Amino acid sequence: MATREQLLRELNLAPTWRRRAEVGVPQLEAAPTVARSTADPRRLRIETLGWKTFAADVDACTACGLCRTRNRSVPGVGDVLAEWMFIGEAPGAEEDARGEPFVGQAGKLLDSMLAALGIDRKNHVYIANVLKCRPPGNRTPEPQEAEACRPYLERQIALIGPRLLIALGKSAASLLLGTDASIASLRGRVHRYQGRPLIVTYHPAYLLRSLPEKAKAWEDLVLARRTLASLKAGSLPR
Ligand code: URA
Repeated sequence: MATREQLLRELNLAPTWRRRAEVGVPQLEAAPTVARSTADPRRLRIETLGWKTFAADVDACTACGLCRTRNRSVPGVGDVLAEWMFIGEAPGAEEDARGEPFVGQAGKLLDSMLAALGIDRKNHVYIANVLKCRPPGNRTPEPQEAEACRPYLERQIALIGPRLLIALGKSAASLLLGTDASIASLRGRVHRYQGRPLIVTYHPAYLLRSLPEKAKAWEDLVLARRTLASLKAGSLPR
């Protein structure tokens, strides 16, 4: 079993970066107000789903064209009482074949990042995507696909009740914060989604292509850990 130091080395994180990331008190950004209609019958139905019916409902979904090209839907994986919820973009080829999020190369890096925090995908963590079905050729989700899938993500958040959300990459950050701003400009702060603290960081697939950014991703995870600790200590407003 790898030690935390070994995992941090695997993530290419120099000690100075870690020290810099571990100081300071998290500050909350003002929550954006997102007004949406709740009169949509599909949305209302999804809002009543429990875990027993959730995956089957996703699997039967035809709300966008991705249902025609996917092999398997990929609802999510993890601890249904998780404190941490990580939200990626969409399934890739391996996820589409196996029905589980983040099982390819990016998933291995995500697992290393979780291990460095002392958590794993089965304990204290739930992992989901903005889209539950693979876009052909792994293209970026279309805004209407993300909106069609949003009720499922919102239902997962409501069922799990995580203390903290982590948006992995632009698709998740854009959907949850309603902004087109870059990850570089959104990271390093505590945002909110429906009242829950939300941290934005780089997508693991991007980190695989851009190794120097791994240090920044680690800073973001340390901010997430401090935010959770502050929440538990009652020093961050809920
Ligand atoms: N990238 C994602 O955003 N999600 C996955 O499940 C796999 C790769």
